[in-house]
Amino acid sequence: MFENLSERLSGVFDRLTKQGALSDEDVKTALREVRVALLEADVSLPVARDFVAKVQEQATGQAVTKSVTPGQQVVKIVHDALIDVLKGDSDPGKLKIDNPPAPILMVGLQGSGKTTTTAKLAKRLKERDGKRVLMASLDTNRPAAMEQLAILGNQIGVDTLPIVKGEDPVQIAKRAKTQASLGGYDVYMLDTAGRLHIDAELIAQAAAVRDVANPRETLLVVDGLTGQDAVNVATEFDDKIGVTGVVLTRMDGDGRGGAALSMRAVTGKPIRFVGLGEKMDAIETFEPDRIAGRILG
Ligand code: GDP
Repeated sequence: MFENLSERLSGVFDRLTKQGALSDEDVKTALREVRVALLEADVSLPVARDFVAKVQEQATGQAVTKSVTPGQQVVKIVHDALIDVLKGDSDPGKLKIDNPPAPILMVGLQGSGKTTTTAKLAKRLKERDGKRVLMASLDTNRPAAMEQLAILGNQIGVDTLPIVKGEDPVQIAKRAKTQASLGGYDVYMLDTAGRLHIDAELIAQAAAVRDVANPRETLLVVDGLTGQDAVNVATEFDDKIGVTGVVLTRMDGDGRGGAALSMRAVTGKPIRFVGLGEKMDAIETFEPDRIAGRILG
């Protein structure tokens, strides 16, 4: 997911560590290259700038450059700074699902992977946490999307709310709540309609559903391949609807990955999960250490 960034950085760090003695100027030159690599990975400019400034502050001066292994020290400082910029929730994978039935609202643009992610999370809740989950599609504009959720539900052995023609999303959300209570479910997941762009209708609909469901978690699904756009989408959704976390999908692709680095710094919202493929098990919690390790190779 960070192949290009990772390759660029390892080039910079190889040169640094091979050099032996380092001057402050050597470190500055290397960090300039780090900044370019971050920008090329589509990390937002202020985040890249702050990142490099922070590393520079710690990596220049006697203690590092005069140490026995200056290059390695710089790499360590970059590693820690990466973890810092990636850090969000202490336990990103833990969903707030006490007090059953707990509603989880899934929002995002069409094609972001929202329905797939809904099913992946439902499977995870069922298998890891032993929860009874009910999924409901609220995408009344696209019957195929409602069908898709039902098919995925069948595949993973998770119930979906029966489709009733003619209902609006708020009515479906209410029915999901009743069904979840009567049926003894621990969690019910509401897969809202997506559109290609954020528009007033999409937001109004998601807000109306939010108001009746009072979700314990509102997870925004965004396509990780879209770089800074993903961050912009998250900012807008959070402003208008309020989200409790982000799921970055398609992180298995050879995208530039910058969204992962900018997301929390720009939106203040943690990345909770990453999607790593189309299969129902292709989801992981977002672990800063692991991601920093992947970036630094
Ligand atoms: P929605 O319109 O937001 O509900 O999007 P879908 O869930 O229908 O997903 C759109 C397409 O993206 C489907 O073909 C999914 O299999 C695929 N997809 C979803 N998440 C991922 C992911 O993490 N990685 C990859 N490679 N494909 C994904």
